[in-house]
Amino acid sequence: LIETEKDNDEDLRERPPIVTVMGHVDHGKTKLLDAIRSTNVVAGEFGGITQHIGAYKVKVRDHEVVFLDTPGHEAFTLMRARGAQITDIVILVVAANDGVMPQTIEAIHHAKEAKVPIIVAVNKVDLADANIDRVKQQLSEYDLIPEAWGGSTLFCEISALKKTGIDSLLETVLLQAELLELKANYTCRAEGKVIESKVDHGRGIVSTVIVQRGTLRVGDAFVAGVYPGKVRALFNDKGEKIDEAPPATPVEILGFTGIPDAGSPFQVTETERQARQVGAKRQELEKQGEAQNVKK
Ligand code: GDP
Repeated sequence: LIETEKDNDEDLRERPPIVTVMGHVDHGKTKLLDAIRSTNVVAGEFGGITQHIGAYKVKVRDHEVVFLDTPGHEAFTLMRARGAQITDIVILVVAANDGVMPQTIEAIHHAKEAKVPIIVAVNKVDLADANIDRVKQQLSEYDLIPEAWGGSTLFCEISALKKTGIDSLLETVLLQAELLELKANYTCRAEGKVIESKVDHGRGIVSTVIVQRGTLRVGDAFVAGVYPGKVRALFNDKGEKIDEAPPATPVEILGFTGIPDAGSPFQVTETERQARQVGAKRQELEKQGEAQNVKK
């Protein structure tokens, strides 16, 4: 419905990796996301970080890393089910006292199916009953073998509670990202995926989109799933108003005509008219699909 602009090699530049944290319940996914966010916030910025937009960006040396802020497998599988794979790297959190549990295994399967590399974060190493070797042994059965044992999986030992090992984990993410040679076109019309939507009192429909290629700007016409729109305002993960969003940027957008589902494609169009046409066409296709499902 929309022709994507072709990339020439000279258009492609390095882009930040997009990371999802997965693992068994209570193994420390939320705590880890909080620890990463707080270690990377400059004093005085604190008010901003309470903003929840479903993703945030941190600086590691001169590089940036984007974290999807919805831990757990549902978001990951839901997005994948809608054809919206946006994760480049999975951090698998395994509590060192508990070891590999059913949802750990599930997460490994999800990541493998999606062909997304896994970094293992052995968490809760501050606990007296932490058993790091056992975790490594258990994970070896799933082909996640540490380098020291002749494998190629990157392992980090952390305590999300005490905030130890976090910097080294972030360095490891950068290392993994370098191996992946992630690149994006920064100049074409923006494309991305909706990661969450809400109706905000006073602001109307607000969606968080991850821009995957191109640069999104205020004033751009777009279509998000079946809904056309025009960017009225952009906010970054700190709630600051911005004028443009390059690739791998999570951004809150105002200017929707409907509430797009998480996982919907977001595309800037040449004109507002094109956005309306594409939206209408998709709506029609959706209706046909539903009618067929009813007949079955
Ligand atoms: P999630 O379900 O995977 O998101 O797990 P949470 O982040 O909610 O953590 C579950 C519990 O484990 C909470 O009570 C945390 O305080 C605790 N926890 C998380 N990380 C650590 C850690 O590194 N050390 C210890 N001792 N406790 C932790």
